[in-house]
Amino acid sequence: MRLRDDLTLLEGYHSPQVDVAVRLNTNESPYPPPDAWRAALLDELKTLPFHRYPDRDATELRTAIGALHGMGPEHVLAANGSNEVIQALCLAFGGPGRSAALFRPTYLMHSHIARITGTEVVEGERGADFELELGEVERVVRKAQPALTFLCSPNNPTGRLEPEGVVDELLELAPGLVVVDEAYGQFAPRSAVEKVSDDRPLVVVRTFSKTWSMAAARLGYMVGPAEVVRALEAVLLPYHLDAMKQAAGRLAVRFQAEMQGRVATIVEERGVLARALAELPLDTWPSGANFVLIRPREKDGQKVWEELLERSVLVRNFSSWPRLEGCLRVTVGTTAENQAFLSALREVLA
Ligand code: PMP
Repeated sequence: MRLRDDLTLLEGYHSPQVDVAVRLNTNESPYPPPDAWRAALLDELKTLPFHRYPDRDATELRTAIGALHGMGPEHVLAANGSNEVIQALCLAFGGPGRSAALFRPTYLMHSHIARITGTEVVEGERGADFELELGEVERVVRKAQPALTFLCSPNNPTGRLEPEGVVDELLELAPGLVVVDEAYGQFAPRSAVEKVSDDRPLVVVRTFSKTWSMAAARLGYMVGPAEVVRALEAVLLPYHLDAMKQAAGRLAVRFQAEMQGRVATIVEERGVLARALAELPLDTWPSGANFVLIRPREKDGQKVWEELLERSVLVRNFSSWPRLEGCLRVTVGTTAENQAFLSALREVLA
């Protein structure tokens, strides 16, 4: 046996799963879902016809998700996490002989999934403070003529929103599909969802893993033109969404008010965290997400990460990544978790 030649140099995507007291490394919600959601799901599982395949089109789930955005189910594609949405987009619109453009540093899985699907990756650069410059977007897209262009707003791991106007510019410039990954969209003041329409090659990707406190359920979705949703059927496996997940998602949207309350709390906590971080010898960047990127000024990032771990605090280590030398990313947790992180950090930096 022999692995595909183009995969031999690719590493899998691993964020260490370590048993620690304070886990702030994967941008999950620090709060479990509402008890009433869990009760409703358990009730539904009691009567679920497990001997039958699930609804292949997941129509009820897609209708419920569409209603969140004032759209019909024909504009919604649901999948096993937003990563699977991205994979389906690359399979259907990318592939051999086609390219995907993206702007570093950004969410690693965009390039990783593109490569797995045989899509060439064309990389532009973000500016010194990780801002996306329209001139760079134009340069990259004009040259590469990509089948897919990825934006990420707020961008992971920098937390910055993509600039206003960039989606419109791309819709003018880009020959292919514009994909805006809004995995953290609910924490940010603006979204590209309103721009979605049948006559624009734009899709917006979202997830239940963060705001909806459902990372364990692996549910994500995309809103976009009905034609794109239909096209993706060609690459998804039959019955790819199991009945338990469909029920979990369908019931979750009933708890939208609770979820919005959690988002507001996390945004408030993010402010508290950012103000405390500003007092320390670190560079930080304004975040529109549920995490903050930091770079210790006087101490090596790797060392800081290790010493936080010794104090049972796990953050995400980006210190050896190109463009992110010395950087760490911390997820906004509960008040107690954030305080535990801050006091460990103060000790480590002292
Ligand atoms: N997009 C971005 C920007 C992310 O940060 C993540 C999670 N790390 C995802 C997509 C994937 O989320 P999921 O597959 O859990 O929906």
